[in-house]
Amino acid sequence: MSRACDRAHRDPAGVHLLAVTKVFPAETVREAYALGLREFGENYVQEFEGKAPLLADLSDARYHLIGHLQSNKTKKAAELFHTIQTVDSAKLARRLDESARPLDVMLEVKLSQEDAKTGAAPEELTDLIAAVRACPNLRLTGLMTMPPWSEDPEASRPYFRRLRELAGEHGLAELSMGMSHDIETAIEEGATWVRVGTALFGKRKKL
Ligand SMILES: *Cc1c(COP(=O)(O)O)cnc(C)c1O
Repeated sequence: MSRACDRAHRDPAGVHLLAVTKVFPAETVREAYALGLREFGENYVQEFEGKAPLLADLSDARYHLIGHLQSNKTKKAAELFHTIQTVDSAKLARRLDESARPLDVMLEVKLSQEDAKTGAAPEELTDLIAAVRACPNLRLTGLMTMPPWSEDPEASRPYFRRLRELAGEHGLAELSMGMSHDIETAIEEGATWVRVGTALFGKRKKL
């Protein structure tokens, strides 16, 4: 992270490390917390529901949902997480708002043609942003994306650049982009949150 910040002439304080602990046990979160990490990313509401009670004493830890959220899990998600990074529809935003708990949200943007990916299309952002801003409990902070998988970090660059342009067009400050393999590219392109699992904790087992 500091190498990429140097290259991009960026202040490292402007890039936050989100430790992605999905699939790893609560103990892993605890160990990372002991080393100073405070922001954690999880993909599955149900999995984190099991871990959260074991971490209740880490009172200043903050949890971000970075996996797709189904609308029947919004209530539970709003209870468990501080930030939902994967809002991609007005319906989902309204359901989160109904939980009557203040939440930070990011909009997940789909920038590739892959069928398997979730996220709002860039053309939908104007309406989606208006819908989120109309929700009194939601605070919109920025955009999130996940490019198609490639071993080559340079393959992610056009997607990161596009997300930065979209955030600029819509006046949003935060950019959640970059994972273990393309973190430096993401920082060069303006990431303010990088989501890192494997590089911190090693390979994940299959769930
Ligand atoms: C799992 C995951 C990550 C972390 O990926 P690594 O390659 O292990 O760093 C980041 N973002 C999302 C959305 C993920 O699902």
